[in-house]
Amino acid sequence: MKVTVIGTGYVGLVTGACLSEMGNHVVCLDVDPEKIRILKEGGIPIHEPGLLEIVQRNVAGGRLEFTTDVEAAVAHGTIQFIAVGTPPDEDGSADLQYVLAAARNIGRTMTDFKVIVDKSTVPVGTGDKVKAAVQDELDRRGIRLDFAVASNPEFLKEGAAVADFMRPDRVVVGADDERAILLMKALYAPFIRNHDRMMVMDLRSAEFTKYAANAMLATRISFMNELALVAEKLGADIELVRQGIGSDPRIGFHFLYAGCGYGGSCFPKDVKALIRTAADAGQPLQLLQAVEAVNDRQKLVLVDKVVARYGEQLTGKTFAVWGLAFKPNTDDMRDAPSRVVIAELARRGAKLQAYDPVAVPEAQRVLAGTPGLSYADSARAALEGADALIIVTEWKEFRTPDFEALRESLADRTVFDGRNLYEPKLMRSLGIEYHGIGRP
Ligand code: NAD
Repeated sequence: MKVTVIGTGYVGLVTGACLSEMGNHVVCLDVDPEKIRILKEGGIPIHEPGLLEIVQRNVAGGRLEFTTDVEAAVAHGTIQFIAVGTPPDEDGSADLQYVLAAARNIGRTMTDFKVIVDKSTVPVGTGDKVKAAVQDELDRRGIRLDFAVASNPEFLKEGAAVADFMRPDRVVVGADDERAILLMKALYAPFIRNHDRMMVMDLRSAEFTKYAANAMLATRISFMNELALVAEKLGADIELVRQGIGSDPRIGFHFLYAGCGYGGSCFPKDVKALIRTAADAGQPLQLLQAVEAVNDRQKLVLVDKVVARYGEQLTGKTFAVWGLAFKPNTDDMRDAPSRVVIAELARRGAKLQAYDPVAVPEAQRVLAGTPGLSYADSARAALEGADALIIVTEWKEFRTPDFEALRESLADRTVFDGRNLYEPKLMRSLGIEYHGIGRP
């Protein structure tokens, strides 16, 4: 099939690459000429495991192309995926300017039937706005052309995006147009061959499903983070509690980890947007407001622990920071807890030596000008000359470090672990002062 993907970010590029891998002819469009330049030169502008190989293979096979040319891109695909960003507006609602710009571009240049599929995370009712924007442009041109609008929210996880796209838990399609439904079924058939995991529903329910999913996941995290604070007061270990409740199949183990808060490009903005949508609909979401407030607090939990140990004034103290990306296996720093931790400690005069396996270039960009912040080439190098270690992201390489070398490198032999990677008892036996989240 001929497919156009508008937006070559984390979602668009993975979508385009994986669809081309199944034999479709995909053209990816972006307004960012730098991204398109990198892609045309055989690279990828983001870190996503396994993605580069798929992109290169399909570019070589002539099934995957990149362009900044709107007209050519719109002309190409019968299916037009919109996968542009939907960042929070000032009032927390999703900013639809990029989605609607993409829709208008389609309406302005299309010359035949299109199925316009919204893959961006968008508030309920956006499908109608996309329809109106396209129709508006057609009216302006004074021509009549048939088109359908569908919603196909994306559930991939950064860091495992290729695997998630190739083997989805489910594919949600919101549409009322039979041609759109048939095309989407055909497009996704190779990804769900053995289990029919496509759920076809109305547009609004599909749009809502994405927010409901992220709201549920964020709720589980904030729930555990709040319980972790109580566990600390009561002398209980939240890790044992987690195992105790996760084994109940009604609860399950996923997304039950206490830590230093959720971040990334989705949960914070989607929780905010859903709160806004609900308020506008006259049905405020009290639970989700608390989820957000708990998370904002939790991003400071490591800072609170450092201040409790060293005092408010941190001039003369040096901290190693392991992990900058909002989660492992990505270079994404959007709303990453590390940004709050680093800003707060730097404000108090601390020196920070940060290490991340892939996110350092992105950190250099978003944290430029932070006083006292420097970067190390390895986890080990970050420890050199530091008083204590702060762990913010749970990269695998941090899970089993050389504990003795770690202890000897740190002047105060102290670890603040925002991801509960280590056993408190083991750390104590090694002579390391250990501060986890919700642990005795
Ligand atoms: P991103 O910022 O990485 O990528 C968006 C891309 O769209 C950018 O490259 C930008 O230049 C491009 N763009 C903007 N306007 C354009 C236009 N008019 N024409 C062509 N290109 C345009 O964003 P992302 O992380 O890929 O997220 C995209 C959407 O998918 C968002 O709504 C997000 O909430 C949703 N989503 C993201 C994830 C994730 O893990 N990142 C997962 C599921 C859903």
